[in-house]
Amino acid sequence: MTFQTEPSLAMLDAKRQGRNTWQWYCGDAIDNVAEHVVIRRELQEAIQAEQFEAYYQPIVDAASGDIQSVETLIRWRHPTKGLVSPGVFMPVAEQTGQIIAIGRWVLDRACHDIAALNAGRERPLSVAVNISPMQFRRTGFMNEVKTALHASSLPPALLELEVTEGTLMTNTEQAVALLNEVRDLGISVALDDFGTGFSSLSYLRDLPISKVKLDIVFIRGISKNAKNAAIVQGVITMAHHLNLAVVAEGIETREEHRDLQQRQCDLLQGFYFSKPLPFGMLTRLPRTLTPP
Ligand code: C2E
Ligand code: MG
Ligand code: MG
Repeated sequence: MTFQTEPSLAMLDAKRQGRNTWQWYCGDAIDNVAEHVVIRRELQEAIQAEQFEAYYQPIVDAASGDIQSVETLIRWRHPTKGLVSPGVFMPVAEQTGQIIAIGRWVLDRACHDIAALNAGRERPLSVAVNISPMQFRRTGFMNEVKTALHASSLPPALLELEVTEGTLMTNTEQAVALLNEVRDLGISVALDDFGTGFSSLSYLRDLPISKVKLDIVFIRGISKNAKNAAIVQGVITMAHHLNLAVVAEGIETREEHRDLQQRQCDLLQGFYFSKPLPFGMLTRLPRTLTPP
C-alpha cells in the first residue's frame, strides 16, 4: 500500500494530540486531505478579511414563549461559495488551531451585538457562545472572555458559554477548575449536545454549570419513539433534581413543542420558533415567539 502524506497537517494532528507522534494519511483519504488543505488556506484569508458573520437563534421559555436568550452560530460568507455552515469549517479550524482567532472573533462580536441590542430593550437578553475544546483549554482563554466583556460592557450575567461533554472529558480536573473561574466571574455555563458523549454522572453532579442542552437526536420524533421519550424525561427529571435547567434543541413541530412543554422542559430552541437570524433581523423580533 502506498501512503500519501501531507506533512504540515500530519504534524498539527500530532501536536493536537499533545504527543510526539507522527500521523500518516492513507491513499483513500487523500481527497479529504486535499479539501482540508483548501479550507485551511481559505480560512486564513477569511480570518484576515473577516468573512465571518454571527447569526443568532432565539431560545424561548417553554411555558410563555418569551425569548430568554439567543445562541450565537457562526457562518462564513465565502467569496464564491456563499454562506458556509460551521459543520464544514469548524472541524478544520479546530485541527489547525485557526479556531483560536475565529473563536475570539465570535466572542467579541456576540458580546458587542447583544450589548447593543439590549440598549434598546426593556428586558435584556442573554447570549450563548459555543466554545470549542481547543479554545477552552488554551492559556489566555479567560483573559479573552474578560476582554470581550469589558470592551462591550455586556454584564457577565448575560453571557453563557456552551461547552460539550467532549471538552470536559480530557483533563477533567483542569477543565472543572476553569469552569469554576468562569462561574466566579458571574458567567454561566451550559453543557451542549448533552447525552451524545459519554457523560460521567459523577462529574455532572459536581460541575459548576447551570444548564444542559438536550441534543436534537433525542428530540426528533419524540412522540413516536418511546426510547427517546424515556431518555428526555429521565434527563429532565435528573437535571431538575440537580438544580439545572434543560434546553431542548431542534424543536421543529407543534407536537415536539407540546411534548416538551408537558415534560416540564424549561427552554426550547428550534426552527419551529425561529431559524438562526442575522443580527439585523434580531432587532425586529417580538418579545414572545408564538408559532401558529
Ligand atoms: P450546536 O451548538 O449544537 O448548535 C445547534 C445547531 O442546530 C445549529 O447548527 C442550529 O442551526 C441547528 N438547529 C437549530 N434548530 C434546529 C432545528 O429545528 N432543526 C435542525 N435540523 N437544526 C437546528 P449550525 O449553526 O450549523 O451549527 C452546528 C454546530 O457548529 C453547532 O452545534 C456548534 O457545535 C458549532 N458552532 C456553531 N457556531 C460556533 C461557534 O461560534 N464556535 C464554535 N466553537 N462552534 C460553533
Ligand atoms: Mg451550541
Ligand atoms: Mg447542541
